[in-house]
Amino acid sequence: MTVSKTRFAPSPTGLIHIGNARTALFSALAGQSFLLRIEDTDAERSRREFVDELLGDLRWLGLAWQEGPDNSEPDSAWYQSQRNAIYQQYYDQLVTHGNAYPCFCSATELEVSRKVQLSAGKPPRYSGRCANLSGDETRQRVDEGRQPTLRFRVPKGEFVTFEDGVRGAQKFLSDDIGDFIIRRADGSAAFFFCNAIDDALMGVTDVVRGEDHLANTPRQIMLLQALGLPVPRYAHTALILGDDGAPLSKRNGSRSINQLREEGYFPVALLNMMARLGHHYECEELMPLGELKSRFSMQHLGRSPARFDPTHLNHWQSLAIRSVTDAALQHWLRPETTAIVPEAQRSIFLDVVRSNCLFPDEADQWARILFTDEPLPVEEASSLAADQAGESFFLAAIDAANAAGADFDGFLSTLKAATGAKGKGLFMPLRAAFTGRHDGPELGLLYRVIESQRLHRRLAEFTYASN
Ligand code: GLU
Repeated sequence: MTVSKTRFAPSPTGLIHIGNARTALFSALAGQSFLLRIEDTDAERSRREFVDELLGDLRWLGLAWQEGPDNSEPDSAWYQSQRNAIYQQYYDQLVTHGNAYPCFCSATELEVSRKVQLSAGKPPRYSGRCANLSGDETRQRVDEGRQPTLRFRVPKGEFVTFEDGVRGAQKFLSDDIGDFIIRRADGSAAFFFCNAIDDALMGVTDVVRGEDHLANTPRQIMLLQALGLPVPRYAHTALILGDDGAPLSKRNGSRSINQLREEGYFPVALLNMMARLGHHYECEELMPLGELKSRFSMQHLGRSPARFDPTHLNHWQSLAIRSVTDAALQHWLRPETTAIVPEAQRSIFLDVVRSNCLFPDEADQWARILFTDEPLPVEEASSLAADQAGESFFLAAIDAANAAGADFDGFLSTLKAATGAKGKGLFMPLRAAFTGRHDGPELGLLYRVIESQRLHRRLAEFTYASN
């Protein structure tokens, strides 16, 4: 049995976002072997720093490629911008067999023709103006210094059929497809061409990519067939929509992997969220990459658009934070946060973080609340609870704390007895005084972790505040 080989083939024209990272993930999950290729033929928009970011993002996510570049130094093995010599023989082969021809139409001519067709209610397609130029006509234009593009001559009257791994049987009529450009006038390879040729040359067996490429596939199949190259299987994954129902974009919540990483998301949280964007898993638990892979199945890729919901991402983040090792969590915290936490309290602080925080920012806020004298930002609900409790409550709390020392249960029962407060009326004002917050770690823990003098000071401050 041949080993299935998938690939991720990004164009380094920007940072990768949830959409393309999901394509990379599905490809990595679907193949026994996974390849990375850099599609940088658009010289104006492709940038080395985006390749660096991309390699860094994939590595951070743990999506290791078995074949592909190690760094952003372009080489002809994996960077399409360096593969022109390889492509040349395939252009030659197509031209020799009459399957491709030079096209001298200018951008303006093509635009006019497009508009004419559109206004006649026809789908715009290349008119075929240069399809049958004689050798003399071609030479004359070249002598005039005109730089032609190279077009693939689409066979007439054929059906192109294939079985899409997600969308099932596909059938396209070649007559609906105009002759398309395979080499640009500047000599660079066009997407349809180099993308398909490289899949074949690199032994890719399964192309998993976004649905926006579905209509490109018949062109690529015709090209590969004309060259006698192997045609891979294709699977086109459904679009991702934002929570407003529009395709996911920056406007409705898409963020770059880089940004999510800086916000403090764990790779495993992102992987679990993305793996379920359009793919169904029976298991609803957080799974490491290996398990996401062993339970992945093409059959479980859905046809209808997947919806990205930021609350799902945070759900996976909260599971991730509970599952990572202490060392990983410690590393995730900002150094200035750790510096605030007394050595002896580090382990208990990690517990606080696990149950109360999603991001390093929040952990930092808790460290400041628990271990510093910085003024507490008091939430509205908290100050309301403190007002309701009144001065006498906090005076009684100071007395109770003095009497009980480190014994939290003793402290509570003394306070209860003195004030008659219970339930929310007891816990909310205490929480307000201890932390300024209306939620967070359980009171007993706060009582133990916050230095007793600091706790007294805070109770005293609330005595005045609620005056
Ligand atoms: N470079 C193309 C893109 O980024 C690759 C498309 C494909 O996966 O075939 O959209």
